[in-house]
Amino acid sequence: MSVSDRTGYRPSWYTATAARTAERAPLTTDLDVDVCVIGAGLAGLTTAREIARGGWSVAVLEARRIAWNASGQNGGFVLPGFAAPASRVVERVGLAHAKELWALSQAGLDYVRATIGEIAMPDIDPVDGWLNVSKLDDTARTAATLRLLEEDLGVEVEGWASERVREVLKTDRYFDAVHFPGAFHMHPLNYALGLAALAEQAGAHIFEHAPAVAIDPGGVRKRIDTPQGRVRAAHVVLAGNVHVGALMPQLGRTLLPVWSYVAVTAPLGPRLAQAITYSGAVSDGVGPDTHYRVVDGDRLLVCGRATVWEADAHALGRGLAADIAGLYPQLGAVECELCWSGVLGRTIHDMPQIGELAPGIWLASGFGGHGCNTTALAGNLVARAIVDGDDTWRLFRPFELIWAGGSVGRAAAQIAYWWTRRREAGKARQGNRHADPIGGAPASARWPERAESHLSLAMRSDASATDAMVLPEAALPAEPHLD
Ligand SMILES: Cc1cc2nc3c(=O)[nH]c(=O)nc-3n(C[C@H](O)[C@H](O)[C@H](O)COP(=O)(O)OP(=O)(O)OC[C@H]3O[C@@H](n4cnc5c(N)ncnc54)[C@H](O)[C@@H]3O)c2cc1C
Repeated sequence: MSVSDRTGYRPSWYTATAARTAERAPLTTDLDVDVCVIGAGLAGLTTAREIARGGWSVAVLEARRIAWNASGQNGGFVLPGFAAPASRVVERVGLAHAKELWALSQAGLDYVRATIGEIAMPDIDPVDGWLNVSKLDDTARTAATLRLLEEDLGVEVEGWASERVREVLKTDRYFDAVHFPGAFHMHPLNYALGLAALAEQAGAHIFEHAPAVAIDPGGVRKRIDTPQGRVRAAHVVLAGNVHVGALMPQLGRTLLPVWSYVAVTAPLGPRLAQAITYSGAVSDGVGPDTHYRVVDGDRLLVCGRATVWEADAHALGRGLAADIAGLYPQLGAVECELCWSGVLGRTIHDMPQIGELAPGIWLASGFGGHGCNTTALAGNLVARAIVDGDDTWRLFRPFELIWAGGSVGRAAAQIAYWWTRRREAGKARQGNRHADPIGGAPASARWPERAESHLSLAMRSDASATDAMVLPEAALPAEPHLD
């Protein structure tokens, strides 16, 4: 996890086009607040803003800079749903329950859209639409997905026939698609910086370079230590994504760290319009495939190629540019000008971890490759739970904390990513008509079902015995420390 830029952000197209905001000071005193939020990514910032809007005092501790990791480096696709495919959520919890979850995911998306309207900052650039394109000539598969999303789950979607897709994406590799007119893409770093400003306007205190290094979660007033100051709070919200593992290793073990890569091409000039005239976001299949959108008029921002270790972003960025050149030969050579990676936290069921771990200890984590809407959803649910005693978060209880498999899990996931890529590419070549329904998320391959059931059966705790979420292994240790 190296952050090479002296500003504390990795150089990216987003940092090159970031709105200027002042650096926040670290915490240097002792502070008493109602709520302490650990982590200033999209999950922590949304939670803090909503808690402050509810009239409670809140402090956010950020180890580095606001949104320096996944929240400020992602593809910027704001979609409904979750990293888990809709069909799998229905299978797990039933249709009625899944419909409630999807409505919440849509509320998360709507929250981001509405908040952008409130942020007095240019350059978030929301652009409507997401086309989830099939690389297989399989209209039955698309029809099944449309039925599930539209008729069963009430999602606003349209079916686009191959001819319509190819009018706007001029490649013979694509067939029909599911279009989400209400989805959009945006500049995620500027959104996060604007969200932080709104949280502060509502009364939240945000501290940067203020890692929580120890936490005493017992008692009515919890104690959170940073190197130069201490917070006492009635509630703690853990919104640290995979990095929270340094503070609470047992929580870290419930997430599989997955690095995803983003490349921005050199300007493509008028050539781009000969290939792509759709201005929304595009994904071309299930799992770790290619996700792209037009930025800056004539460049493409391309995202994908997940790995379970931090690989060379430049090599993978060149690979992403090559993927685009392969799809659209009329573009000629496609040069990758900027590339970077960020790490996301993937749960074994691909659903987020939202809930109360122990009295006053809250978790908003595990958003995987589908965090732009689900972090907003989680922030709102956790804030409402704390401020109003609302218990909607319990809808997520079926997705309890499960050990993510350690190094064995990493190896299994990497094999799953490779296998999915190869399988999808093979099927696209052969015109195989038996792929899984679409509806999954960017940067998220299906975990092999057998690995999932094996790991979860081996490590799962019995969450149904209590109202709180249950950690694998024992309950929270009295005083977990930064290793
Ligand atoms: C390359 C990439 C592309 C993606 N593309 C998309 C996309 O297009 N659409 C989409 O919906 N999702 C996408 N995602 C996923 C999405 O970005 C994440 O799910 C989401 O941003 C996670 O937000 P977060 O707040 O949980 O985590 P983060 O953004 O990682 O924020 C967590 C913060 O907590 C801080 N922290 C951790 N521990 C401590 C501590 N002890 N003390 C203080 N601070 C601490 C960290 O420093 C960090 O700033 C992508 C992810 C990546 C990496």
